[in-house]
Amino acid sequence: MLKGKTALVTGSTSGIGLGIAVALARQGANVMLNGFGDPAPARDQVAACGGKVGYHGADMSKPAEIEAMVRACAAEFGGVDILVNNAGIQHVANIEDFPVERWDAIIAINLSSAFHTTRMALPGMKARNWGRVLNVASVHGLVASAQKSAYVAAKHGIVGFTKAAALECATTGITHNAICPGWVLTPLVQKQVDARATQLGISNDEAKRQLLAEKQPSLQFTTPEQLGELAVFLCSPAADNVRGVAWAMDGGWTAQ
Ligand code: NAD
Repeated sequence: MLKGKTALVTGSTSGIGLGIAVALARQGANVMLNGFGDPAPARDQVAACGGKVGYHGADMSKPAEIEAMVRACAAEFGGVDILVNNAGIQHVANIEDFPVERWDAIIAINLSSAFHTTRMALPGMKARNWGRVLNVASVHGLVASAQKSAYVAAKHGIVGFTKAAALECATTGITHNAICPGWVLTPLVQKQVDARATQLGISNDEAKRQLLAEKQPSLQFTTPEQLGELAVFLCSPAADNVRGVAWAMDGGWTAQ
């Protein structure tokens, strides 16, 4: 379905970004990966699905590096047809204890980076009159949790940005939508599981059970594979008129 299209997926060396990159590659898309750490395992996994794979190590908190990455993607593959703004970090603390540097980093990586990639990718999408922009927000783009002020602010911000961008492109072949996962067991959440286990002196399994029981009525983690299939749907012709939505995949978290 996506043969001949190129997807740029930020933060795709692990977790949800990698799950989405794999699902898009299975549909025939070329994929430009991004993220920290050794990219080789992600590259191998995506390459095994067919299509070409590239990698750019841009730091998503740095606008100049983001610009270089989008240009590199266009040079290597001819443009960006599908942009998945997924890179994200978390920090958990009360507002009065929140390190200023962590606040700035979360806003830059989880929110402003999507502005920079989108402004760089849009001219090419408009020239081809086709594009898909998927912003990986969170349930925290729809509701809040204590001690996550920067993350909640950034994720609510990216849901708003998605709506504004969708309206600007409403009469074009370019759609912008947000995906709002609940708990997904990736390194980002594993850190929170570990912190809970240590703080309460409980096992890892008990910490996971408590985490889910607090917020996610299905008591199941959403998986990167499920989010990958949602991304594929949002890239399909069936989703041509899905514009500006914030689509939860959260086991009922935001239904409460
Ligand atoms: P993860 O830690 O597994 O992956 C994060 C990715 O972003 C990695 O590839 C990492 O290298 C990359 N990254 C981090 N900082 C970067 C930077 N400055 N520049 C470039 N890349 C950078 O986390 P994940 O859980 O897969 O998170 C992916 C997205 O999904 C994030 O936006 C996160 O907020 C969101 N999300 C996660 C969950 C969850 O439960 N895991 C729930 C809702 C939303």
